[in-house]
Amino acid sequence: MNDSRSPRDRVGRVVRDLPRSGIRDFFELVAARDNVISLGVGEPDFATPWRVREATIFALEHGATSYSSNLGLPQLRRAISSYVKRRTGVEYDPKTEILVTVGVSEALDLAMRALLEPGDEALYHEPSYVSYNPVIRLAGGTPVAVETGSEHGFRVTRARLEECTGERTRLLLLNYPNNPTGAALEPADVAEIAAFARERDLLVLSDEIYGELTYDRDHCSLISQPGMKERTVYLHGMSKAWSMTGYRLGFACAPAELIEAMMKIHQYTMLCAPTPSQKGAIEALENGDEDVESMRAEYRRRRNVMHSRFEAMGLPCMRPDGAFYMMPWIGDTGMTSKEFAVRLLEEKDVAVVPGTAFGECGEGYVRCCFAASMDHIRAALERIEAFLASEKVS
Ligand code: PLP
Repeated sequence: MNDSRSPRDRVGRVVRDLPRSGIRDFFELVAARDNVISLGVGEPDFATPWRVREATIFALEHGATSYSSNLGLPQLRRAISSYVKRRTGVEYDPKTEILVTVGVSEALDLAMRALLEPGDEALYHEPSYVSYNPVIRLAGGTPVAVETGSEHGFRVTRARLEECTGERTRLLLLNYPNNPTGAALEPADVAEIAAFARERDLLVLSDEIYGELTYDRDHCSLISQPGMKERTVYLHGMSKAWSMTGYRLGFACAPAELIEAMMKIHQYTMLCAPTPSQKGAIEALENGDEDVESMRAEYRRRRNVMHSRFEAMGLPCMRPDGAFYMMPWIGDTGMTSKEFAVRLLEEKDVAVVPGTAFGECGEGYVRCCFAASMDHIRAALERIEAFLASEKVS
């Protein structure tokens, strides 16, 4: 029996080769310390709006604790359909073109697994949300990172897309407003990307989870472009703008055949999204506009404070148009992103995420999240300034 396989050898090859998330490594360091001010985690600091919690409690009290239809509660799908129509002008049939999922995370995984063939190349722009590359790999696809930089405001350009597209390119994954850079697209960018996707006959996955969180102008959705509804899986969810991360509620809107393909997996793996959460989401989508507006106004205030302080302390930083992140350039300190983040944590108890957690082109940046209270943000900025000053002296 000595030659039995070790537990490690029992792990499947694809998973064995998957790197650990840079964020997870870093947050293990953070968890080992007390009194850390965190600008690290991408999670709203606001409580879920009371009307949403109340609707959820009411649903629980009235026994909404069984499975729902696999696609999601019909009333929620109708609420999603009218919300998406209101925001983008595009209409989805609640019966066949909408799937309620366990967060955008599940929807991403389903879309990749349902729509990629082994060896298909999937383009995504970097710096990117940490799960994109692994989710493509787990689906048997080949991730191709399209680098973006501050010179174009971290907006993916047609020229870069052209360079990265080949015979096997099947899918383009987009995320604007963007985690981790805070970049949002101008209508002209959206039109250009849509034209490219149409010309190359690409399937597009558009992760618009931060679509409600833009600060200088309205979000321009990819699906509102001519000919895009037919080739796009539009992803959105309740986690960010409605502050409902723990509800685990997202949704995908797409042509019926694509929803059916995703549903084939979802019906066996998840069955349905949590029913009480679906009840809360109905309330959020039908009556939560004011709650979103007041959180957005506060994020805007925090963004302005954080951005002007970074500039004043000599850390150049693109002013984010959306989401709740910004990435100051720390490359001129002589430290790598990781060194900067680790030393800032160890010397000043402030957590920021090294830009390299979001891809190699994140080197020289750190991601700071402004979904933290203004007091925490101000205190963290004081400490960062003191850290920079002590660096100059030493
Ligand atoms: N997509 C992006 C760009 C994100 O930033 C996140 C979470 O941080 C997700 C998807 C996952 O969201 P959910 O909570 O809906 O699974």
